[in-house]
Amino acid sequence: MTKQLLAGQRALVTGASSGIGRAIACAFAEAGASVVVNYRSSREEAEQVACDIQQRGGKAIAVQADVSEPEGCDTLFGAIERELGGIDVLVANAGLQRDAAFTEMSLGDWRKVIDVNLTGQFLCAQEAVRRFRQQGLDSQRSPALGKILFTSSVHQAIPWAGHVNYAAAKGGVKLLMESMAQELAEEKIRVNAIAPGAIKTAINTDAWESEEAQEKLLKLIPYGRIGEPEDVAKAAVWLASDESDYVVGTTLFIDGGMMLYPAFREGG
Ligand code: NAD
Repeated sequence: MTKQLLAGQRALVTGASSGIGRAIACAFAEAGASVVVNYRSSREEAEQVACDIQQRGGKAIAVQADVSEPEGCDTLFGAIERELGGIDVLVANAGLQRDAAFTEMSLGDWRKVIDVNLTGQFLCAQEAVRRFRQQGLDSQRSPALGKILFTSSVHQAIPWAGHVNYAAAKGGVKLLMESMAQELAEEKIRVNAIAPGAIKTAINTDAWESEEAQEKLLKLIPYGRIGEPEDVAKAAVWLASDESDYVVGTTLFIDGGMMLYPAFREGG
């Protein structure tokens, strides 16, 4: 069992009915946090996540909301206030892909990805900061007024042909995170990001489902395995906890070394 690094913390994890968000919600609960498990459309899966947490003695509720809409964020923050009495940690995780070659990409698919992956994280973070301020600092709870974890990607730095909407959104998340961190650190609000590499989830099944695809993908991962959602979740627990209290404005890559220009292993 993970050390109770998040005892007494109240956390909101967006897009938590599957993949990385689900793993983070479960790991947070294991670490002692109460969790709002946000989902957009997969109600059964989200309720299952909450139920699994409850069965293990944790506190969790599933809440439906579309994070790309201000009304969705209002619903979410209203629920966490009502059900858990406030918020200490936001994990802005919800995201999606709508891939296409550059000239084939529709404006709709461009907008959709920016709306969810960038604007959705902005809206949730903005509301979280407002709530942190209203709540005020409780040093018994944490030395921080509040903590925000954005979910970026190695593609905040690695260009990605055929995915310009996704790479643009994640590049945006990087500077959104860093600018917020710079602006808010003096208020003891810690803003950081986790940036997964290739993690086995529904968002990228094409990249790991077949043996051929796996082999191709592994060439990009020096550590020699595709990541699991739990790899990201364990790092997120630490980054959300007071163990990382002096970590501000950092992107933590969880990528098996994908950022290390793996092609240069062959000498460049
Ligand atoms: P996933 O598809 O399992 O999870 C994404 C979740 O976001 C889903 O549950 C989906 O329903 C939810 N979602 C989508 N739009 C939403 C909206 N408008 N409102 C609320 N929820 C919404 O995939 P995942 O891999 O777990 O992705 C989680 C995050 O990790 C994403 O931000 C993704 O970009 C990022 N990421 C994933 C990988 C990877 O290799 N899997 C790599 C880098 C970054």
